[in-house]
Amino acid sequence: METTKTINPATGEEIASYDRITADEAKEKIAKANKVFQSWKNESFEKRAKLMHKLADILENNTDKYATLATQEMGKIIGQSRGEVEKCARICRYYADNAASLLENRSVETEASKSYVTFQPLGVLLAVMPWNFPFYQVIRFAAPALMAGNTCVLKHASNVQGCAFALEEMIEKAGFPKGIFANLNISSDAVEEVIENEHVKAVTLTGSEPAGRSVAAIAGKNLKKTVMELGGSDAYIILEDVDLEEATDLAVFGRLQNNGQTCIAAKRFVVVDKIYDDFLEMFTEKMQAKKMGEPMDEDTFLGPMARADLRDELHDQVEKTVIQGARLVIGGKIPKQKGAYYPATILAEVEPGMEGFDNELFGPVASVIKAKNEAHAIELANNSTFGLGSGVITGDKDRGEKIALQLEAGNSFVNKLVVSDPRLPFGGIKNSGYGRELSGYGIREFTNTKSIWID
Ligand code: NDP
Repeated sequence: METTKTINPATGEEIASYDRITADEAKEKIAKANKVFQSWKNESFEKRAKLMHKLADILENNTDKYATLATQEMGKIIGQSRGEVEKCARICRYYADNAASLLENRSVETEASKSYVTFQPLGVLLAVMPWNFPFYQVIRFAAPALMAGNTCVLKHASNVQGCAFALEEMIEKAGFPKGIFANLNISSDAVEEVIENEHVKAVTLTGSEPAGRSVAAIAGKNLKKTVMELGGSDAYIILEDVDLEEATDLAVFGRLQNNGQTCIAAKRFVVVDKIYDDFLEMFTEKMQAKKMGEPMDEDTFLGPMARADLRDELHDQVEKTVIQGARLVIGGKIPKQKGAYYPATILAEVEPGMEGFDNELFGPVASVIKAKNEAHAIELANNSTFGLGSGVITGDKDRGEKIALQLEAGNSFVNKLVVSDPRLPFGGIKNSGYGRELSGYGIREFTNTKSIWID
C-alpha cells in the first residue's frame, strides 16, 4: 500500500506514515459528502453558526496541541504556529457571525412584482491546499464554504497529513455531520479523477503556479469553477521619507515570518537611491541578529524550511542570482547541520532578468533592488509576472495611497505588511491566480448567484 510520510524538517526524522486511500475509497468519501450536502444545504444559518463557533472553541482550547503538530510537520516557529491556530478560530467566528448577512438576498427593482438575487450552495467542493499554513489555508476555505451550505473534500499537501487528519477530526468533534469534510490522503496524480467526479462542483487551490495551471486546466476541461491562490513576488517600495528603523523592522519581519514561506511575504525590496545604502546597512544588521534554530524554542526567530528539497531549490536560485550579477550580502550557504535550515540571506543590486527578481523566492532570502526615484520604483514593482500583494513604506500616507493604487496586485498596503483579514477580499492577479477568498467576495465564490423573478 502506498503511504504518505511526514518528516520533521528540523531533524530530518520521520514523524508518521499514513496509508493512502484508493480511488474507490476517495469516491466513497465524495459520495458521502454529496449525501450530506442534500440535507446540509437546507440547514439554517443559526445551526451552522452554532457548529462553527464550536469549531472555534476546539481550536482555541487546543492551540498548543495543533501548533505543536504544525511546527513538527513544517517547521514554523512555535509562537507563529499558535498565532495561526488562533487566527483560524477568528475566521470561524467571523463567518459564523456574518455568513447570513453576507449571503442575504439582494432585492433588485425590475418590472417584476418581485425580483431578487439569492446565493445558493453548489455542493461538494475540492480544496487542494499547501503546507505553509497547514491549518489556516484550509480553514480560510472551509469556514465560508460550510457556512454557505457546501460540503468539502480536502487534498492537503503530503508533508502535513497529520494536520489534515486533525482538521477532519476537529470538524467532526464540533458536531458537523459525519462526512461533511473529508480528508483525501491521495497523491497529486490522483487529483484529476477527483475533479472529474460528478459530485465535485468546484475546486480551490492554494499553492505553486505549476500546480495551479495543472488543476485549473483539468477543472476547465470539466467546466468546473476554480479559485486559484498561487505564488507571489511581492514588492515593497521604500521611499526616501521613511523612518528607517520602522521600515527595516517591517522588512525583516516581512521576509522572515513563517521562515520566509508565505505567498504574501515581502520578497523584493525596491528602495530609492537616496536611502538605498542606509536601508541596506540597517536591514543587514537586523537580519543577521535574528536567531536561527529549533522551531520549538521560544527564542528562535527563523526555523527550518518545510522540506530539504525546497531548501535546495532555493539555494540554487540564490546561486543563480549571484552568477547573474547580484551581490550576496549575508547568508547564501547551506549550514552544516541536520534539518532543512537556510540562513537569512540578502541579495543586493538585484535587477530585472535575474532569478531573484523574476521568480518567487519561497524562503528567507531578500532581494534588494535600487530604484532611481518613485516612478522607477513603481515600474520595478510592477515588472513581475506575479500580482498578489505589494506595499509602500513612506512617511506620507497620501503619497502612499496614490502609489498603492498604481501597483498591479490584489492587495496593496501602505506602511503595513500585507495580511489577510476576514473582512477584506484576498487574492491575486496575473500569475498569482484569480478569484477571491475571505469577506463577502470569498463566500460568494462558491455559490450559485441566482436571479429570481416573480412576474
Ligand atoms: P505545490 O504547489 O506543489 O503543492 C501545493 C498543493 O498542491 C499540495 O497539496 C500538492 O500535493 C498539490 N499539488 C502539487 N502539484 C499538483 C498537481 N499537478 N495536481 C494536483 N495537485 C498538486 O507546492 P510545493 O509544496 O511544491 O511548494 C513549491 C512552491 O509552491 C513554493 O516554492 C512556492 O512557490 C509555492 N507555494 C505557494 C504557496 C502559497 O501560499 N501560494 C504555498 C506553498 C507553496 P503534494 O504535497 O502531494 O505534492
